[in-house]
Amino acid sequence: MRKDDCIFCKIANGEIPSETIYEDDMFRTIMDLGPASKGHALILPKQHYRDLCDLDRETAEKVLPLAAKIGEAMKKSLDCKGFNVVQNNGKEAGQTVFHYHVHLIPRYEDGPDMVSWAPGKADPEELKQTGAAIRSAL
Ligand code: 5GP
Ligand code: ZN
Repeated sequence: MRKDDCIFCKIANGEIPSETIYEDDMFRTIMDLGPASKGHALILPKQHYRDLCDLDRETAEKVLPLAAKIGEAMKKSLDCKGFNVVQNNGKEAGQTVFHYHVHLIPRYEDGPDMVSWAPGKADPEELKQTGAAIRSAL
């Protein structure tokens, strides 16, 4: 299914031009217009899914192998030593375009710090309660 007012539906299906690095019948991978680093790319499914929780099984099964393939190509073609796979779900998590997509962010030696957080200190009782809450909702 596609969503009429969704910009990533239009890009993924070629109605809006993009710098495309990979395309098949299910996905288009494009260069991000606001790159976090040189080579930052986005994998977009051609069908509209809001986020990870909305994804269909076949798309879910294929997207990580595709991320690995493109990440390998980044390591071969750019001078990057690694890459981050980032995927935001929900406004509070930083999602700004509500069509599922996966960020592939090449990382360079001495490049900027990103996708990091200051580790907190776990309280064992709180871990137990939080773990139980999530388990009970599975
Ligand atoms: P999110 O914050 O939803 O995880 O990521 C949205 C990403 O899409 C951002 O990195 C942003 O730079 C990128 N983006 C937004 N609009 C466009 C667009 O029209 N074309 C391309 N290539 N990237 C876009
Ligand atoms: Zn869409």
